[in-house]
Amino acid sequence: MRVVDFRSDTVTQPTPAMRAAMAAAPLGDDVFGDDPSVNALQLALAERLGFGATLFMPTGTQSNLCALLAHCQRGDEYIVGQFAHTYRWEGGGAAVLGSIQPQPLNHQPDGSLSLAEVEAHIKPDDVHFARTRLLTLENTIGGKVLPLSYLADASALALKHGLARHLDGARLFNAAVAAGGDPYVAAREITQHFDSVSVCFSKGLGAPVGSVLCGSAAFIHQAKRWRKMLGGGMRQAGLLAAAAHYALDHQVARLADDHVLAKRLAAGLQGLAGVTVEAPQTNIVFIDVAGPKAAGVLDHLKSRGVLATGLYKLRFVTHLDVDAAAVDQTIAAMREYFAG
Ligand SMILES: *Cc1c(COP(=O)(O)O)cnc(C)c1O
Repeated sequence: MRVVDFRSDTVTQPTPAMRAAMAAAPLGDDVFGDDPSVNALQLALAERLGFGATLFMPTGTQSNLCALLAHCQRGDEYIVGQFAHTYRWEGGGAAVLGSIQPQPLNHQPDGSLSLAEVEAHIKPDDVHFARTRLLTLENTIGGKVLPLSYLADASALALKHGLARHLDGARLFNAAVAAGGDPYVAAREITQHFDSVSVCFSKGLGAPVGSVLCGSAAFIHQAKRWRKMLGGGMRQAGLLAAAAHYALDHQVARLADDHVLAKRLAAGLQGLAGVTVEAPQTNIVFIDVAGPKAAGVLDHLKSRGVLATGLYKLRFVTHLDVDAAAVDQTIAAMREYFAG
């Protein structure tokens, strides 16, 4: 039986062509700024996304944390979504390591934060309050694409109140590809609304490791200091940057294939009793299972060679290493379980 893994788009293996690019990469000591492959990746992303500087990071978590530390001082506050990675999934790092207070807000059904609510939570300059300093958004958020008009409005609101704007763009290119047209142009239309953006290469882009933080030269100078302090100053990191660079050049447009597979999965699960399927916008399918069948569904799927996760809802993520046959195997296993 073939085992198909929908737990995350982080499970992808580097392709033979990506491994070849890694093997051929010229290397140097990146803490000295000497690694040509790291420098080439950083330059390519700065140009493509329209930033003054960028910085290669081991993980998205460290990239977001360095951004928060560079934007905020001790006693500052960032406004963020309840289910945003930078609030819920990063161990409270900004508070633990940066003495930065989060102000979490509930999401609207489309994943956005109500801008009226954001504005209501910006604290006046008063000794009782933390200093509201930063608005942090995420795109895609739970696989949903934030509309460009919303990003423009959120950005204008932040600027009006003197807040910096950070985007957790772990899946920025999924949002860009979903927009249609040239994905690099679409990505820039998103990133233009932010002072800093973090992009993951180890998700749907299919690299084994790595994120890049983008911002102004002065901002990246600060972030680099934090990265070193957090232990993220890597040496011959070009071996990894070469994989990310390969992904940037060759594995962006193909994210559309993942989106098609997600739609195929969602369509195949329609109509099962007790199952509510959210229509996917990109590569993540969320499913609500009501009633007594909820408890055993992951175990059943596993017995049929299908891996998924189910922390809040049942979640399937499509990626480079699954295909239509894997989707159909999953649909069959789900039908079997919910029919029985
Ligand atoms: C995966 C992810 C990150 C970073 O995760 P790492 O595992 O630390 O690389 C950040 N934000 C979002 C939205 C993510 O999905």
